Amino acid sequence: MDIHEYQAKEILANFGVEVPPGALAYSPEQAAYRSREIGGDQWVVKAQIHAGGRGKAGGVKVCQNDSEIQSICEGLFGRKLVTHQTGPEGKGIYRVYVESVVPIEREIYIGFVLDRSSQRIMIVTSAEGGMEIEDISAERPESIVRAIVEPAVGLQDFQCREIAFKLGIEPSLTQRMVRTLQGCYGAFQEYDATMVEINPLVVTGDNRVLALDAKMTFDDNALFRHPQISELRDKSQEDPRESKAADRGLNYVGLDGNIGCIVNGAGLAMATMDTIKLAGGEPANFLDIGGGATPERVAKAFRLVMSDLSVQAVLVNIFAGINRCDWVAEGIVQALREVQVDVPVIVRLAGTNVEEGQKILARSGLPIIRANNLMEAAERAIGAWKSDLSNQQIGEN
Ligand code: GDP
Ligand code: MN
Repeated sequence: MDIHEYQAKEILANFGVEVPPGALAYSPEQAAYRSREIGGDQWVVKAQIHAGGRGKAGGVKVCQNDSEIQSICEGLFGRKLVTHQTGPEGKGIYRVYVESVVPIEREIYIGFVLDRSSQRIMIVTSAEGGMEIEDISAERPESIVRAIVEPAVGLQDFQCREIAFKLGIEPSLTQRMVRTLQGCYGAFQEYDATMVEINPLVVTGDNRVLALDAKMTFDDNALFRHPQISELRDKSQEDPRESKAADRGLNYVGLDGNIGCIVNGAGLAMATMDTIKLAGGEPANFLDIGGGATPERVAKAFRLVMSDLSVQAVLVNIFAGINRCDWVAEGIVQALREVQVDVPVIVRLAGTNVEEGQKILARSGLPIIRANNLMEAAERAIGAWKSDLSNQQIGEN
């Protein structure tokens, strides 16, 4: 799960990372009011969305007075900001963060990530802050300084001092750098984060080390033990298809193709998508109904897949161990009677109660295309979609 910049800053500040004074606003008027509370004579207004690259996309603006803050905010609120990280549809702006402007002397990149090969938390830093880490590693790979944390002893101060030295931090600021790195590590550990990134971390003209931007991502599987973090979830920033599914206890991943997939189990979903591709098609999504799916759950899954307008055929692939094919079949029949499904539906069932399942499908009188194995299912799905498409084209001509 991702959180907003202002939320990450609040967490990191509690762990000793220095941040500029700032305040959150939900409207242009509130933003202007918040700037007066903060004080000073220059503010930066920052769109809060779950993506980076806001600066280049016009989501971060320096303002000199109230009316400028208001007019900048009027241009931001309610709009979708498209950055290189959001995808073409962008992300909605419903909150802005107002911060004191600080005089930047140097910009540094620091990131804490899980390194799977060493199975450790890895610190990645670079003296080339401000740029995205992908660009730094492409253009200035030699500027990257890495360190690995040994979990038995935690991040050691000497490691932080070494990083500060390699980044060319002035000796008088070493201690502040140690505090910043230890703060990030502390927050990472405490809340089961999978990523903490400060880009840029700046050295100011008056010799402070401040986090100007902050990003944190958390392990979804550990959220149950951090209610104060789960509370920070912002559905307005998620793919609506995915959050709708998550609310219904279904695992859904939206993709770009046109064959909707209803499957049980992540491994089978992978195999199904591979087979669709092998047969020359593109999956529109990956919907895992899980084990022990009731007819109601299958019907919900159908509704969800059909709400995606790019779906032009639905492939149901169930290998029932814990599941029961007859229940799945009932769910399919129920869904096809309730939901308007005007695309071909291909069903492959195997495992527990498969004969009953097939009978239910056959007796329903619904135009369900049945398949005996996965390859056949994929080929029939693609064949049905193509002939459906050419029928439509003939109709149009
Ligand atoms: P991102 O583009 O989404 O990563 O947003 P950032 O929070 O990193 O802001 C983009 C850029 O705006 C930063 O790299 C800074 O150069 C600039 N910026 C942000 N806050 C301040 C500030 O307080 N003072 C100044 N001078 N520049 C700022
Ligand atoms: Mn940034």
